[in-house]
Amino acid sequence: MTNIAFIGLGIMGSPMAIHLAKAGHEVVGFNRTPEKTRPLVEAGGRAAESIADAVADAEVVCVMVPDSPDVTDVLAGEGGVFDSAKSGTLIIDFSSIRPDVTTQLAEQAAARGMRLLDAPVSGGEAGAKNAALSIMVGGEAEDFAAAKPFFDIVGKTVVHVGPSGSGQTVKAANQLIVAANIEALAEAVVFLEAYGVDTTAALEVLGGGLAGSKVLDQKKQNMLDRSFDPGFRIELHHKDLGIVTAAAREAGVVAPLGGLVAQLMASALANGDGGLDHSALLRGVERLSGRTQP
Ligand code: NAP
Repeated sequence: MTNIAFIGLGIMGSPMAIHLAKAGHEVVGFNRTPEKTRPLVEAGGRAAESIADAVADAEVVCVMVPDSPDVTDVLAGEGGVFDSAKSGTLIIDFSSIRPDVTTQLAEQAAARGMRLLDAPVSGGEAGAKNAALSIMVGGEAEDFAAAKPFFDIVGKTVVHVGPSGSGQTVKAANQLIVAANIEALAEAVVFLEAYGVDTTAALEVLGGGLAGSKVLDQKKQNMLDRSFDPGFRIELHHKDLGIVTAAAREAGVVAPLGGLVAQLMASALANGDGGLDHSALLRGVERLSGRTQP
């Protein structure tokens, strides 16, 4: 059994930490808003009052916070993981952040004798709750091998995709594909409704053909019901599309659809939908079509 610290017990981090605790590991959770540690404690984990307290005895430190500045704060900030963890600690960053930031943090970790893997995930809240995440891992092969047993507890498809930062690059590609899919599904729903088609029947048959997708399976009901509780928040997907468009530009490649859907995601944020699930891209299609519902 391994001593694991888990920092960031939000929509994704909480169920992941609970799976690790239920698998028999000693899991100490830290969350900025302390109440969110309760489900982990009920599942047999312990709540820490600071990052330093959480990581003091940890062999493995997992991080699941929103964005690049947050991961930088948690790892390299005063009283953060680099200040407080033991040399040799294996740090697994599950957050989706900029690949270049990950690479810099991995170098800082190595300078302190620690090891950092970037291990962003896909599969949404359902994937986290069902321990069925896809995990795309960047870093050293031996660190990946050491972390694999923990990945297997929270994920189903776990792949080492290359050196430090590669996991984040693959995740950026993932977010491009997902956003474009959601936008296309949203446009199809509004289009079908405009023709008075039975959308439930339509999405059932579309789901069985080439138009079928996990996005369709997982997001169709949100769209049909106009029920946009997150899930994956628009503001987080906006962050990810910023990563995609900047990284594509740096690499000298173009992603026209990525650019377009990034604008539509930004519009959703500007219209006050940042806290809604990303399936609420549908609301943007309705706004553009003059079909806003009360
Ligand atoms: P979330 O529910 O907002 O949880 C984020 C957690 O990070 C919260 O517990 C928050 O604490 C904590 N946090 C935020 N800023 C912090 C800081 N500066 N220092 C310390 N703690 C901080 O977000 P989430 O949906 O779990 O997403 C987490 C990461 O997973 C993101 O990178 C996201 O892009 C990625 N992701 C999400 C999904 C999804 O479907 N939700 C799917 C795949 C990947 P408080 O409780 O105090 O706010």
